[in-house]
Amino acid sequence: MEADLARAWVEGIAAAVRERADELTQLDAAIGDGDHGVNLRRGFDAVVAALAGADLATGGEVLVKTGTTLVSKVGGASGPLYGQAFRAIGKALQQDATLAEALRAGLDAVQKLGKAVPGDKTLVDALVPAVEAFEATGDAAAAARAAADGMRATVPLQARKGRASYLGERSVGHQDPGATSMSLVFAALADAAAA
Ligand code: ADP
Ligand code: MG
Ligand code: MG
Repeated sequence: MEADLARAWVEGIAAAVRERADELTQLDAAIGDGDHGVNLRRGFDAVVAALAGADLATGGEVLVKTGTTLVSKVGGASGPLYGQAFRAIGKALQQDATLAEALRAGLDAVQKLGKAVPGDKTLVDALVPAVEAFEATGDAAAAARAAADGMRATVPLQARKGRASYLGERSVGHQDPGATSMSLVFAALADAAAA
């Protein structure tokens, strides 16, 4: 991945997170602690600032820096999860992985850290179908559609990981905030790839 495409992807995520921060926070207020939009906005604003001053030659370098910044700036569950995902994607690209292989490496990093599987009502429910769709088609728009479907499919689930799991059955009937932000991540990739 070229550095310009990686920058466009990350800047697209930052713009979407800024625009949708209130919605993400409201989803998290229903089944968590009401900070998901705040967490991600702080993180991606810091990423945009970090990238602006950095001379980065490849997409891999851009995404490693993205991940490292998220890890250092965002607390809660989502900072380390998104941070390690972008670090893993970037590192894989630096080792000449294809984008499909790199996205799979990002998913592996998320699951290694958070231990969530599909159906646990987390961002993994959007990430797994997105990675599978990209592996099958090489099409970021197909991956974005799969992520959005996975996001919507979290509504009837009972959470088994993260803060929402403390609610037990009361987590049913709400869309997972992290799956929602993960859907924005793939929508931004599709937009950047199409531009
Ligand atoms: P916190 O819950 O610490 O306040 P955020 O609100 O920023 O963190 O993020 C919450 C989101 O993190 C959840 O909606 C869920 O998608 C995701 N999440 C929580 N725990 C895990 C986990 N173990 N694996 C994957 N995703 C998780
Ligand atoms: Mg929260
Ligand atoms: Mg929190």
